Amino acid sequence: MEAEKIISRIGSITSLDTFPYQLYIQTSVNFMENILQNFFSKSIPASVVVAVFLGLFIGTSFGLFIPVIVASNSERVASYEEVAAQSMVDDVLRLAGRGSSEETGLSYITLPGIQKYDGPRLAQTMPIETKEAWLSWMSRNRNDNPDFLEERWQWAQDLVLSSELKRPEDVRAFLLTPREHFVRAVNKGLEYANTWLPIGYGATITDPDVVSMMTTTLNVQPGDKVLEIGTGSGYQSAILSYLTKDVYTIEIIRPLFIETDALYRDLERNFPSYSVINRKLGDGYYGWEEFAPFDKIIVTCAIDHIPPPLLRQLNPGGIMVLPLGPPNRQYIMEIVKREMEDGSITLSRRDVYNGQSVKFIPFRDESGASYSTPLPPEDTSLP
Ligand code: SAH
Repeated sequence: MEAEKIISRIGSITSLDTFPYQLYIQTSVNFMENILQNFFSKSIPASVVVAVFLGLFIGTSFGLFIPVIVASNSERVASYEEVAAQSMVDDVLRLAGRGSSEETGLSYITLPGIQKYDGPRLAQTMPIETKEAWLSWMSRNRNDNPDFLEERWQWAQDLVLSSELKRPEDVRAFLLTPREHFVRAVNKGLEYANTWLPIGYGATITDPDVVSMMTTTLNVQPGDKVLEIGTGSGYQSAILSYLTKDVYTIEIIRPLFIETDALYRDLERNFPSYSVINRKLGDGYYGWEEFAPFDKIIVTCAIDHIPPPLLRQLNPGGIMVLPLGPPNRQYIMEIVKREMEDGSITLSRRDVYNGQSVKFIPFRDESGASYSTPLPPEDTSLP
């Protein structure tokens, strides 16, 4: 079938991979810091320090050549802009949001119906005081791959230490969600790396610290109805499913929607909480009228204004979190909608990262055009 062919061709874009420079540099810096600290506390002699630094210098020079060679021989891309630009690929755009069930026999709305929601029970009973208690509980109660558990624990600890995760409920949700299933196979080994990663079709799985800041800001209460715009890998909604049993998510790129929908169906057998994730292929700019209003809305694609339909679909007292700003950088904003006694509506906004900018995949319409106003061309004329 024509559509199938195109999907599998686009599927090959998932081989686009980025060399994790951030991680590589961070690990080297941590290592050097360690050596220097030991040197200054006089626990290792100067000759060892010199030898290690020389080794690192030679190793790094080689290490830097390897990605260059790999990049020149494959489809690797080096920058976020290039990954984002992939969603301009004509085939993706032709398919984006245009699916009809008749065309492929698939449905583009999945309302699984709660099978066996175990979120609150897990949240109440899972011990998180010590690693040992947690590991032993996980092995008795969950169907997780044990290879990833130590790493997931350490990673969640780091998010708590950096204050990105604050509430115990959120820590539990992160500890329960197997990120290894949502990171695509090309990025094996980076499942718990603190970086965004490409997931194909010009989309990315958001970096864990941004996911945790946004989740913390949403302050999800059990029973809240939460809408996510930009399903992508499915990871964010998986986290949300441990916080409430009413989750809705919308994705605009059809092959990505199909892939993640299938992933949830597969995972539901071992992780029944994902059956609370209702998902739809469509343009999230217009929200999901049928199930509105929502108590919380999380937007995971970049836009320079708050989509009015989403604001309308937010309950009074509700919170929206979104990456707001021009195409080249955004700020994670918390928008709180309040209804006054006289019936008027007020909005308050807060920059969650205190001025630090982030960069998200653009919020696009069904023709592939970004909803944000393009930046004016740079003025290169002489003064
Ligand atoms: N929450 C995701 C982030 C994915 S990146 C994760 O953690 O994996 C942002 C996603 O927003 C992309 O998948 C992109 O296709 C999607 N997107 C962009 N414009 C959209 C729109 N109008 N409606 C729904 N999704 C959109």
